[in-house]
Amino acid sequence: MVCKNCGAEIYDADKFCTACGAPNDIPRPTEEREIPEWGLKAFAFRRKVRKVYLIMVIIIAIWAVLEKL
Ligand SMILES: [Zn+2]
Repeated sequence: MVCKNCGAEIYDADKFCTACGAPNDIPRPTEEREIPEWGLKAFAFRRKVRKVYLIMVIIIAIWAVLEKL
């Protein structure tokens, strides 16, 4: 890449320009990646499954309690 300060050719890995010493801001990978639509759908589905699972557990728990009575 090219130094933003002096225009000298520098390596991407260099933290500072070898010619002028200006800090080389390396473009960091963006943390907030856009979630694809299928990802959102899968997430919603997983949440739904967890809800159903929770309801089943509650029903089984109630059934177990009633069985003891
Ligand atoms: Zn420079």
